[in-house]
Amino acid sequence: MSGVTRKTDAYQLQATRLQEKLADGSTRCHLCSWRCRLRHGQRGFCQAHVNRHGTLYNLSYGIISAIDIGPIEDKPVKLFQPGTRVMSIGSYGCSFRCGGCHNLDISWGVTALDDLARGQSTEAYVSPQQMIDTALRHQVQGIAFTYSEPAVWLEYVLDVAKLAREAGLYTVYVSNSFVTHEALREIAPFVDVLCSDIKSLDQDFYTDICRMAKVQDILDAIKQAHDLGMHVETRTNIIPTRNDDLDMLADIAKWIHDNLGADSPWHITKFFPAYKLSHLPPTPSETLHAVYDRAKQAGLTNVYVYDDKGCDCATENLPVSQYLDGDAQSIHEVKKCAATCCGEEGVLLKKYEAEQ
Ligand code: SF4
Ligand code: SF4
Repeated sequence: MSGVTRKTDAYQLQATRLQEKLADGSTRCHLCSWRCRLRHGQRGFCQAHVNRHGTLYNLSYGIISAIDIGPIEDKPVKLFQPGTRVMSIGSYGCSFRCGGCHNLDISWGVTALDDLARGQSTEAYVSPQQMIDTALRHQVQGIAFTYSEPAVWLEYVLDVAKLAREAGLYTVYVSNSFVTHEALREIAPFVDVLCSDIKSLDQDFYTDICRMAKVQDILDAIKQAHDLGMHVETRTNIIPTRNDDLDMLADIAKWIHDNLGADSPWHITKFFPAYKLSHLPPTPSETLHAVYDRAKQAGLTNVYVYDDKGCDCATENLPVSQYLDGDAQSIHEVKKCAATCCGEEGVLLKKYEAEQ
């Protein structure tokens, strides 16, 4: 398999799913809850969709920003096919702008998406079938859509998920759940697992990272995924002074208990300073364990604390092309999550701080 096809050979814009053409020539995108209304030449908040003469197109179809292979437990997903290995992939663009994002160059991805829009990109294009072939060659059991927000990449996610199912691979969708009900109905028949953040129950917290995001909408989307039959696990990254109020966190546990079930897994992860939140300390261990105790008191049976692991970054991994063309042996030599990223001393992406 030749693995990577240069953009100029195979890349092309894909029409955005769930677009609504309006009488004035603008088009509304219903992939995520921004529901951007765009005129010719305008790009959505995520930067990954553009209106060209009344039709919306996805810029990032088949464009892979990062790739990695590891245990499904690292997603984190604990109770779906434990012990199996998953190939994680992501593109560019996100519906949020989190102050503590560890994937900024991927989630914002403005440079990469600008280059694609101008036809000046040297990014590799990977067809859905090439991605499946790569996963099978590396003998993983599943594919995870992560790093950036898969909701803004739904066209590719769906095409890969359908082929994955035919090939006997499961799929995992790691999301902020700022997604529309229509989009969830599209993916639910083909995607096995939703691993979703519940970042806070405080409306101000969500407004700060996305002025359109409503706490209730996020919760409704997670509940809908559960009701549609997806295996759902949730995660909260505890950020000192931002979302570490124990009563609020106990309320998250209670919501999970009442809406997803007492055995629904909740992952409590440690915050590591990054980007606009570089001045905050990492989450103290005592806080993480206090949250665990409150979750248990709320009746949750599967609560997991991660005192050593914060994000899902892949900044120091091998280039995408090496995954696609390399043999299975070389993949496992990948160095993951360098000291410049996570860790007590690691503050990510200094270059973004300079722009503040
Ligand atoms: S995916 Fe979301 S942010 Fe992107 S264009 Fe569509 S509605 Fe807007
Ligand atoms: S932390 Fe997640 S949801 Fe927030 S900007 Fe980064 S990728 Fe998007």
